[in-house]
Amino acid sequence: MTPNYRLLISAICISFAVLLGYRVFAPEERDQTTSILSSSALASRDPASAAKNPDDRSTILESLSACQNLYQTVCLKKGITRDPTGSVRPDIDGEREALRLYEDIIQKHPDWTSAQVDEELIKQIYTPRRRARIESAYKWVEYTIERWIDRQPKDVLDPLEKKLLKQRVRKTPLEPPPPADVYADEPELLTKNDVFYERLTDGKTRLRIGGAYFFTSKSWFNLVFTMAHELAHAIDPCELRNLQVSLPAYDRLKACFMKSGLIAARNDRSECGRNDQLSETFADWVAGQITAEALKSFALEFRGQALLDAATNATRDLCEQDDGATESDTEFHPAPEIRIDRIFGRNPTVRKILGCKPPEPGSAEYCTFEKDRK
Ligand SMILES: [Zn+2]
Repeated sequence: MTPNYRLLISAICISFAVLLGYRVFAPEERDQTTSILSSSALASRDPASAAKNPDDRSTILESLSACQNLYQTVCLKKGITRDPTGSVRPDIDGEREALRLYEDIIQKHPDWTSAQVDEELIKQIYTPRRRARIESAYKWVEYTIERWIDRQPKDVLDPLEKKLLKQRVRKTPLEPPPPADVYADEPELLTKNDVFYERLTDGKTRLRIGGAYFFTSKSWFNLVFTMAHELAHAIDPCELRNLQVSLPAYDRLKACFMKSGLIAARNDRSECGRNDQLSETFADWVAGQITAEALKSFALEFRGQALLDAATNATRDLCEQDDGATESDTEFHPAPEIRIDRIFGRNPTVRKILGCKPPEPGSAEYCTFEKDRK
């Protein structure tokens, strides 16, 4: 499965994984979005009616519970959550859908070569509309990560460090097919849910996106979290270490991750190697901040249940899957509860947007580049 001419480096993130333009960039769900936006907007903009409306009371209760443990809100909830931009389905549903298309093509064209079948499958899955949507999420995330780097104080990241990080982000393109030969070395990806970052032996970096992901993730907020997580790998501590770059801000952050238990302390842990969660914790930490920006824009117009649903969908695919076949990778990824509640759910901007109280002084801390600076 792994092509032998290149070295896949950063952990494959089976993640599963906005804005100013959540409506503009959500053509996949445009029609449903319009009607849902109308009804949610009416409900969420009228706080005076909240106490009278049982639905709003349940929203308040759900918000309180999300503030206490976002993981439980996101993962213990039954069924599909629909936010105004779309929903997130179980991984297995997307893969079944992609496989169904694949089998249909083979049945209709038994004489075709596998290359012809793949080409037709790509045509049916990576449609211009779906590509445009994923590319708009990618571009928004790339822009927002660069602005996030720019906003770091000079004594946290100096101008040269910022330039290096931004260049790495900019030089990590999203490469969906067509043309079909873009994924010719990894055709099985067409029916998989995987989205991942990789660095090739020549040092070039890129993001790849499996065909099933288009069927699984239709929420803009999930696209943003996923793209942000993958793009963050371009600047994660292990990728910088590979370049023999060491940044004091990263060292402080890593120390905080360890102290807070966001990276599992294991005797056989080898930093950036076996049993180490550093790069994945970092990618989730960045993705949380970028997704918080998306939610902040969304919060200009929506509140209450719509916001909670958007936050839920952002990380919905990080939960343990119900199919019984897929186990969460906890060698490199923190457990879902840590990813969703401790990293994303403790993000101060996310908490503010959801109406949660800031953490009590001395309680579970939120790591930053500046934490513990002497
Ligand atoms: Zn990852």
